[in-house]
Amino acid sequence: MSAGFNLDDAIRKVPDFPKPGILFYDITSVLSKPDAFRYCVDAMVKLYKGAELDAVAAIESRGFLFAAPLADRLGIPLILVRKKGKLPGKTISKSYCLEYGTAEIEIHEADIPKGGRVLLIDDLIATGGTLRAAADILEAGGAVPAGVFGVIGLPFLHYEKALEGLEIRTLIEYFGE
Ligand code: AMP
Repeated sequence: MSAGFNLDDAIRKVPDFPKPGILFYDITSVLSKPDAFRYCVDAMVKLYKGAELDAVAAIESRGFLFAAPLADRLGIPLILVRKKGKLPGKTISKSYCLEYGTAEIEIHEADIPKGGRVLLIDDLIATGGTLRAAADILEAGGAVPAGVFGVIGLPFLHYEKALEGLEIRTLIEYFGE
């Protein structure tokens, strides 16, 4: 973290949301502070400038907010990873397990650069299940997942297991209450 700026101060922590026992790390309080949002985007640019990326893939929905300015600043394509049923064209999809039940995400097949290096972005990495599923879709479409990024990481949920083989970067980590 750069001197004089404390990202932790900008992140709202909401206990027992969306259910009892979960501490929710809310990034709306980062977006509403221009200096905090600028700090995040600048830090991402610093991390990935020169990484020879061909595209940035953004996880719905909060991942969109951080991936879009990065794609613009790096001058590379932005690919949306959406919940099943939202994309109108031909897609590649993947279901994965949540704590309760399953979820399914998909990407437009035509947006996946064949042989291209794609960085995956979300606001927060918890179990890593969503990013893993998105990386699998990119691979199925012929791209190379070049790494994963979350503004926030919760390493006590052992996301490094789900994301094995991928380079993981975060701006701040929390280790539980
Ligand atoms: P996962 O697939 O388990 O890594 O879950 C990641 C997704 O769930 C991200 O898109 C996060 O926005 C959201 N998420 C999971 N846990 C939290 C938390 N404690 N606070 C805020 N968002 C969370």
